[in-house]
Amino acid sequence: MTATAPREEQLWSRCAGCATLLYRKRLRRNLDVCPECGVHSRLGAPDRLRQLVDPDSFRPLPDDPADVDPIGFVDVVPYPHRLTAARTGTGLAEAVLCGTATLGGHPAALAVMDFRFLGGSLGCAVGELITRAAERALEERVPLILVTASGGARMQEGVLSLMQMATVSQAVAALREAGLLTVSVLTDPTYGGVAASFATNTDVVVAESGARMGFAGPRVIRQVTGRALPDGFQTADFLLRHGQVDMVVPRRALRGRLVALLAAGRAGRPRPAEAAAPATSPPVPRQPTPHTTATATAVDPPAEVADPWATVRLARHPGRPTTLDYLESAFDGFVELHGDRLGGDCPAVVGGLARLDGRPLMVIGHQKGHTTAELVARNFGMASPAGHRKALRLMRLAARLGLPVVTLVDTPGADPGVGAEEQGQAAAIAENILALTVLPTPVVAVITGEGGSGGALALAVADRVLMLQHAVYSVISPEGCAAILWPDRSAAPQAARALRLTAPDLHRLGVVDEIVPEPADAAHADPDAAATALRDAVRANLSPLLDLPPATLVRRRRQRFRRFGAARAGNRAGAR
Ligand SMILES: [Zn+2]
Repeated sequence: MTATAPREEQLWSRCAGCATLLYRKRLRRNLDVCPECGVHSRLGAPDRLRQLVDPDSFRPLPDDPADVDPIGFVDVVPYPHRLTAARTGTGLAEAVLCGTATLGGHPAALAVMDFRFLGGSLGCAVGELITRAAERALEERVPLILVTASGGARMQEGVLSLMQMATVSQAVAALREAGLLTVSVLTDPTYGGVAASFATNTDVVVAESGARMGFAGPRVIRQVTGRALPDGFQTADFLLRHGQVDMVVPRRALRGRLVALLAAGRAGRPRPAEAAAPATSPPVPRQPTPHTTATATAVDPPAEVADPWATVRLARHPGRPTTLDYLESAFDGFVELHGDRLGGDCPAVVGGLARLDGRPLMVIGHQKGHTTAELVARNFGMASPAGHRKALRLMRLAARLGLPVVTLVDTPGADPGVGAEEQGQAAAIAENILALTVLPTPVVAVITGEGGSGGALALAVADRVLMLQHAVYSVISPEGCAAILWPDRSAAPQAARALRLTAPDLHRLGVVDEIVPEPADAAHADPDAAATALRDAVRANLSPLLDLPPATLVRRRRQRFRRFGAARAGNRAGAR
């Protein structure tokens, strides 16, 4: 549909739905909805804002996005060249426009994404700008409206773009705590990391007619499952039928519906302001312990010289210890708890009560397997929505019982299946990310094997994030990245190098706090030694967290994820 978006000077354009030749001015008057067949053309952010807000009421936020290329990404074209082309093509600085405005006289902060700009992808600057819009909403005590249009996280910024899912989610969480309404408006298309975070963890989710939303895209699902997709898969009506959105609204009624929501949101009694504390607290220095510094330094040199593609293969080695192996070897007294209490028990996620040095805790992790049969039975460690909801149930149980949470992350990604999408994969991941940003108990995450995109992050928003020496953590698999940005999938080794997915890279970027050393020939060669190293690292990282008051813990966790954004110096008052 975007392909037919006409330039202003053209008088006629052909509808992508019914092929009718339409007089451009007539189409504009009809809000870019075909008067013949009702197809909603995609809108750029400036047009969208004009349609939604009161005339002349929009005030853009003063912040400009910085020119960032945090991992020096090059595929066939260097990333900065792609950025420049997107800026020239759209006249926008980034893939989102943020500001304040009124709708029907009701004030709100807005962030409106623009799919024309690198597919509306979520990078560090986009995350930063949306977070600032949310922080502005908190400061001014007004609702936040997010209009989403995105293919997902921006792979050219590697795992740092994945972190933006947590950054924006915790800003949404702060609005929840302050009793301020958050509304997302899903427009076509909304996928991947955006779907699995702020598009679906707001109070009210509105889908524009014709919008499609999902975690995995239809092409990926078709490729993985080899099945034809059901009619209307991931469309607004499909989402409504499966309980994933509050309403489907045609474009001409969208503004009116938002005005009604804002009016209702304002009628509620405002809650005390103390919940806003995290946004205004002073920064807290990182707290290295002698032990952690030593291990990180000790393993840096060998990993520096390893080819990232070789590391990917080690991280996927079938002999690599699994979560259940570590529960047996590194922890004591594991009692497995099953089920999400909503109708399923996902075998790709295991969890339950265990002990470390006699101290009870909750351990939750992805479960793969060593044999083909085990891998198939565990869906290769790819969690379904039921798996994410089981993890959520166990996290909340841990919080009620005052138990620390340890997560072990080892997944190629979330389940790319038809059923997973029907059951709300995106929202399930989004809710876990948000829940982890408010969990009042210590959380230590360990990337033990593969940390694959949003499915991994759903267990990895933690106070301390550790990573085994030969594990990988990435916004997309090297094969997936190669298929999109290179001529074909055989470029996976190059993509693995470009993505900065190894432990030393991520330690340098601050995504990972500590690297857990592996035995000489990697974890699969000596699982007992790997278990000992994991236990020591978890113990050393957990113990300084145990005596912190919950409010301090949550504040520091949010600061940890708040620092991954990027934008030029502007009004950072609400950012620290
Ligand atoms: Zn039409």
